Amino acid sequence: MQFPEDDTIAAISSPPGRGAIVCVRVSGKSAFAVVTRLLEKDKRVESFAPRTLHLVWLVDSNGKRLDQVTLARYVAPNSYTGENLIEIFCHGGKWVPALIVENLCHVGCRLAEPGEFTRRAFFNNKLDLIQAEAVEDIIAAESPAGLQNALQHLEGRFSERMQQLRERLLHTCALLELGLDFSEEDVEFADRAQLRAELEGLEKEITFLLASFQRGQALKEGWRVAIIGKPNVGKSSLMNMLLRQDRVIVSSIPGTTRDTVEDSFMLDGQRFRLIDTAGIRTSHDEIESQGIARSRRAAEEAHIILFVGDQSQPVDHFDEAIVAECSRFVSDATGKKIIFVRNKSDLLKASNTVRLPFSVEAELETSAQTGAGIAELEKALCAVTNANGSDRSGEVVLTNLRHKQCLEKALAALLCAKKSLDENLSAEFVAADLREVIHQIGVLVGEVTTEDILGEIFSHFCIGK
Ligand code: GDP
Repeated sequence: MQFPEDDTIAAISSPPGRGAIVCVRVSGKSAFAVVTRLLEKDKRVESFAPRTLHLVWLVDSNGKRLDQVTLARYVAPNSYTGENLIEIFCHGGKWVPALIVENLCHVGCRLAEPGEFTRRAFFNNKLDLIQAEAVEDIIAAESPAGLQNALQHLEGRFSERMQQLRERLLHTCALLELGLDFSEEDVEFADRAQLRAELEGLEKEITFLLASFQRGQALKEGWRVAIIGKPNVGKSSLMNMLLRQDRVIVSSIPGTTRDTVEDSFMLDGQRFRLIDTAGIRTSHDEIESQGIARSRRAAEEAHIILFVGDQSQPVDHFDEAIVAECSRFVSDATGKKIIFVRNKSDLLKASNTVRLPFSVEAELETSAQTGAGIAELEKALCAVTNANGSDRSGEVVLTNLRHKQCLEKALAALLCAKKSLDENLSAEFVAADLREVIHQIGVLVGEVTTEDILGEIFSHFCIGK
């Protein structure tokens, strides 16, 4: 695919509002000539040493001063976009950056579209598609953990994994196709048993990456934690304790009217989004059914379930109904983690309190009244997100739905290839399936792409990026 534009673009790369310094970027073939037109007489951008800051006045076409700025020029291909690029650091505020961009547009630039600088970087092979998407994820990161993950993708670790995968596939496919060329002589260049082992290895690798998606999403957007239990066990009080604020109204009347409450907090560099399933007040008969329905919805969406029981009260059928509902989500397939919290530990323990008939990640006692056990609860939350407590900082994690969809399609084609092999079909069929796997990996990294895919990705970027 050819890069469609060769005009010069300009945009403000900093967020709007008052600020000390703002960066205005200009990129394209005539970037140096265009900016020279805003310099005072006798000054030329080309005469400035590259990658060095120069203090200059910018003026409009009548010679009226716009601002005193520093600027740096980057000569193609050694720039972010791979084109001639200028970064102008001017004063912030409402007028200076806007007037500079307006004047740049008068002298030969056009306003950049969202993500156009990164799009140009992609077309000029400065970044692949995974890295370009990582740029957006860095800006949108919700937590240090999410940021680390995005930085890893920018660094190219995920791209590297995909390229290795692609090379292995290309090699296998080449052997198969070579065999096809000599098919009349009954020569097979790829040993079928070896081929099968190779396909199994690839399947394992893709499945492993796909399995990391849930974790990747949680790192990116925060771990969703549903607090579940019948009214009055202390869910809202626990939420307030974890948030360290009185976010949720606590009342001793079971089922105080309020909608599901959500708020987030940071722990160990990660964001946790708490969802309090809250009480409800409606006609008495409906309390249970609505409470259960609400718990179900929250549990469905959650990565982690905090099941809260009141250890000062004997278990009743409402507890049991919610436990039963919860059981539906407890399977390896959902990957949901459950922490069982026995609240109100400051009160006398009742005999026969609620029990969970399934295994949980952690079980602990808390008092949302005194704060006892809250530190342990926080530790349990961190432990759950960091399975086995191992250091996972170097791990490549899938965070993007588009990547997941490409890998799913790749996996489906790979399984077809395996099936064709098992059924002893001609190498032609196996090779065709492998070509599809290669194609999907190519789409993932951006080696094969369409205007639709690029439009979808870059339209979410901000202008100036
Ligand atoms: P929710 O309906 O499950 O959200 O429960 P709330 O958080 O609204 O609490 C219900 C009542 O129990 C309130 O009066 C709280 O002050 C009280 N409560 C909550 N947690 C504790 C606790 O650990 N110990 C004691 N003694 N009371 C608690």
